[in-house]
Amino acid sequence: MDRHQRFALLTEEATGDREHGLPGRPRFNEGPVGIRKVRLPGGGVTKLMRVMQTNACSLSCGYCPTFCGGKVRRVVLSPEETARTFMEAHRAGMAEGLFLTSGVPGRPQRAMDRMLATVDLLRRREGFRGYVHLKMLPGADEGQVRAAAQLASRLSVNLEGPSDAVVRRLAREKDLSGDLLPKLELAGRLSREARLEGRPELAAPSGTTTQFVVGSQGESDRDLLGLVSRLEGKGLLHHAHFSAFQPVAGTPMEGLPPTPAAREFRLYQAEHLLRQYAFRFEELVFGSNGNLELDQDPKTAWAVGHPERFPVELLKASREELLRVPGIGPRAADRLIATRRGTVLRGADDLRRLGVDVTRGGHFMALGGKRLAPRAPAQQLRLFMPGGHLPSVVWNTPVPPCAYR
Ligand code: SF4
Repeated sequence: MDRHQRFALLTEEATGDREHGLPGRPRFNEGPVGIRKVRLPGGGVTKLMRVMQTNACSLSCGYCPTFCGGKVRRVVLSPEETARTFMEAHRAGMAEGLFLTSGVPGRPQRAMDRMLATVDLLRRREGFRGYVHLKMLPGADEGQVRAAAQLASRLSVNLEGPSDAVVRRLAREKDLSGDLLPKLELAGRLSREARLEGRPELAAPSGTTTQFVVGSQGESDRDLLGLVSRLEGKGLLHHAHFSAFQPVAGTPMEGLPPTPAAREFRLYQAEHLLRQYAFRFEELVFGSNGNLELDQDPKTAWAVGHPERFPVELLKASREELLRVPGIGPRAADRLIATRRGTVLRGADDLRRLGVDVTRGGHFMALGGKRLAPRAPAQQLRLFMPGGHLPSVVWNTPVPPCAYR
């Protein structure tokens, strides 16, 4: 296979990844090269090339088609090929940033060195100063984390699960408390210290991320969000990704049921409450099974349990109070505060124009002393039927479905 064919096989074009994707998939020469428009931390959109350096792997992650026993075609890109292909796309105006991940064939340090060599070529030889997200591999050593922090804009370490037992069941070679977690904490500390010194460019200026495979091993949302909350609270993690487990053909977990898409969606909503709405972990509402409710978003679940806090008078409330109201996000809160200073807000239509979701949150809002809806919505619209985003048969994909988060 030539370089572009191998590139096409190692990018997310092969997966149908669904997160952050915007319409439009540019093609490059004779094949697709996995370039997507994605949102950048802090705002804006960039064209990101997401690629695995190799899908060869000697680990046994039970959800992954490229696990050591997987019957997929294995291909490799050298650091030179990866850097050259990216720079060709970059110079053609097609890619502005790179997301680089890899399987782990043999010694993890060797695979990690090849990824570092790719980014080193981009930074030092090609003079590329743009966004690079580098996935740290399980088994990478401390020196490699430090080197990666100097080269990459963002580092990520996939924790996969919230406890040692869950992670071992997902992949027997992976070690949460002895390897993955200390690696993520070190990357987070390097990035945080550089930010505190006022020189964020010295170490992963966009911070760290992680990912969890959700739902195949009985872990609870409480366990997942508890770990995320602890890391984000210490400034060691910028944000987390949650991938609802979905069975892939030919993997050891092919026969397990998929996780409902709604669970992944609720986890993202709850993580946003912790990170952007000043909610404390203890305030999140979990059911007796330790999971978030699927039929109600986490903010509404909290609001229903605190009737003494509502309705909130929208003409007077502080930003913090507004952010507690279902249907009001940070942008709508800011618009509301800016607008109410000089304009008379008369009703629901004015609020909707500012981005307030009156249908969802009207019961929790008052305007000029008048509550906007007499009752809380009995049940929210389902955005997905459970499992609705998943294929009805097991997936067939040559790269891990969650490789590029
Ligand atoms: S998830 Fe990553 S480490 Fe695990 S088998 Fe797949 S490629 Fe290898």
